[in-house]
Amino acid sequence: MKYVVCVPDGCADLPIASLGGRTPLEVANMPTLAGLAARGEVGRAAVIPPGLPPGSDVGNMSILGYDPARFHTGRAPIEAAALGLKLRPDQVAYRCNLSTVSGDGTMVDFAGGHPSTEAATRVVHALDAQLGSGVGADIEFHPGVQYRHILVAPADWAEADCVPPHDLSDKPAVWPTGPASAKLRAVMDASREIVGSFDDVAANQVWLWGQGFQPQMPSFRDQTGCEAGLVTAVDLIRGLGVLTGIDIVEVPGATGWFDTDYEGKRDAALRSLEAGADLFLIHVEATDEAGHAGNLDEKLKALEAWDRRILTDLVSGLDAMGPWRMLLLPDHPTPVELKTHTTDSVPYLLVDSEHDGPGGTYSEPATAACDPVPGHELMARLVGR
Ligand SMILES: [Zn+2]
Repeated sequence: MKYVVCVPDGCADLPIASLGGRTPLEVANMPTLAGLAARGEVGRAAVIPPGLPPGSDVGNMSILGYDPARFHTGRAPIEAAALGLKLRPDQVAYRCNLSTVSGDGTMVDFAGGHPSTEAATRVVHALDAQLGSGVGADIEFHPGVQYRHILVAPADWAEADCVPPHDLSDKPAVWPTGPASAKLRAVMDASREIVGSFDDVAANQVWLWGQGFQPQMPSFRDQTGCEAGLVTAVDLIRGLGVLTGIDIVEVPGATGWFDTDYEGKRDAALRSLEAGADLFLIHVEATDEAGHAGNLDEKLKALEAWDRRILTDLVSGLDAMGPWRMLLLPDHPTPVELKTHTTDSVPYLLVDSEHDGPGGTYSEPATAACDPVPGHELMARLVGR
């Protein structure tokens, strides 16, 4: 038996007036998906447990079969894992944005003008050299990608409430609060002189948030009995793969953007399954980016690309290999009219090539009356455990 998990990030949406009150999933031309839904089982999954933020870290943890209420410690340690960092028990990881905060305290740009990774890496090395032991404790700055970096600090620095900077865009920056906030504030203040000295980045300080300890997740193999692989362009999902022992397959054209190599991801899945993997997860970010951009046209295009450029030949490739099962669902909704994630439950689809389900339609309205199942329980159903 082969298993595939398809994650169109943020694909779930809301009814849109310009679509006659329909959702993008209802309007997009997706004949293969419609055929799969007609022979499978559709329902609703609560991928974001109550009280947790509706992020891709939380939603994809659910999809992989791990209850975020139990295993999620924060976003930063998952990104740290993607960078190959392993935290000691006496360390906490913070997400460290290169951000632009104006003199009057407004969060002008949480992404600090999107510096190149090369330029940002020089800034982060300078921060590490000058602040690494200059703030009364051993802290480490680790360069990541573009504006997204990691600070590793002593465990007691975890005791703070931090606001994600992308929730503060064009608003007054809300500084950390709580017992460790003074230490965080000291680092953020001290970073201004260092970051500001680089003419080739628009960012002028670091912003610390998303902290957490090393998550203690059992391996995916132990959880499911499956050797698994995944393909994604997103650090958080790579990090979840690292933390659970899932093989991360590189596809050069996987960009995390509208122009991603859909066929490359599909073929990576088929190749990996043919080579012996039991399960493969295909993640595509384009639907989420279209939601954030408020770009309905790109969201429809990304959905149709899923159908035409992934699902159609994926299904025929799987058929040629033998019996298979598929789980398809997003990690959270990203409605184009809201341009941000929501905590709503999402439609899911389960298909078994050998046993027809009750059949249905894969859309938000068609599953609206279903009682949501906890998202992390679907993996066990997929692999029959
Ligand atoms: Zn998103």
